Amino acid sequence: MLVIYAGLSLSFITKETETEKPVKKAVVMYGDQTLFNTLEKLDDEHIQWHYDSLKKLEKPPPLIMSQIELFLTVKTLTKLEAALLLDSLFESGDEHYALINQINLFLIDHDFSDAEEEFAYLDHNSDYPAHLIYGSWITTKPHPYSPELYKSDTTQRLKLMDKSFGDYVSPVDKIVITSRFGYRWGRAHRGIDLDLQVWDQVKSAFSGKVRFAGYFGGYGRVVVVRHDNGLETLYAHLHRFKVVAGDDVKAGDIIALGGSSGNSSGSHLHFEVRFKGIALNPDQLINFKEKSLISNKVTLVKSSWGFTVIPDGVEYYTVRKGDYLFKIAEEYGITCNDLCKINGIRRNTPLQVGQKIRVI
Ligand SMILES: [Zn+2]
Repeated sequence: MLVIYAGLSLSFITKETETEKPVKKAVVMYGDQTLFNTLEKLDDEHIQWHYDSLKKLEKPPPLIMSQIELFLTVKTLTKLEAALLLDSLFESGDEHYALINQINLFLIDHDFSDAEEEFAYLDHNSDYPAHLIYGSWITTKPHPYSPELYKSDTTQRLKLMDKSFGDYVSPVDKIVITSRFGYRWGRAHRGIDLDLQVWDQVKSAFSGKVRFAGYFGGYGRVVVVRHDNGLETLYAHLHRFKVVAGDDVKAGDIIALGGSSGNSSGSHLHFEVRFKGIALNPDQLINFKEKSLISNKVTLVKSSWGFTVIPDGVEYYTVRKGDYLFKIAEEYGITCNDLCKINGIRRNTPLQVGQKIRVI
């Protein structure tokens, strides 16, 4: 006979039956916080057994059944697949906080056996960089990509440096940031503004191939460089070109002289980093003041507003219902100002549930 005990906290209850009958056990839980922890102590066969025994009940408890199913699924996932699952929970828009928390907790403790990490689209053997991702090489406009290109994306791993494409080099020598990525005056600012004098050298931030060098609308004279990892960097308001489309450049090569062409109120470099045409927050990739990368490896997480960049080894907080900036800042002991800066947001930017906020 199967016996289920109920308790206030989660418990794993074993009830052995009379001797000649097969032993049956059942999982009972109240609250959904620690079921995963409990299950993790058991081997697969054991879990399956509990699952089967619950299934035999006249009314199998649906929540517990689905959680065990989920556990069995999650435990076989690679880290990337688990991240994709989290994505899909966020994207679904429903409030799966408990579930998301559980998966997160599980991921922290779980020893993943990902031997070889897969990085998207690294391909050094083609005529132009990252051809696997773009499939085209268009030199007539800076932004030729349609939403089709990123529509089905979820999470991507990206390596920013490697032997073949070298290090990061600051696009300008003296760093004065005059405007950051985000919304200003009700319009999206899709790059970061770095102060410079007309004629100052502008360098390619990474190695790659010049895809566009020409005059284009508000950008004025603008250069776009595509890199092997699929990123494209854009340098706008230039005064003179030093490259043409098709030129191979190394990180640090001079591609132009700075200026104030196009829609610009004074000489500066407008610098963008894009992936599949979607502008990323450069502050999440590059520490401009230090002239270094925040991390060599990043995860791009697709969200309704674009891609969030999550550098490896940097702590993130996932926004929950009822959170506000000041609360998160206080919790992590940093100022609201710093929190805004490193995330490219403003104090009054509404936070979205599931949004990842960098906290260090
Ligand atoms: Zn700008």
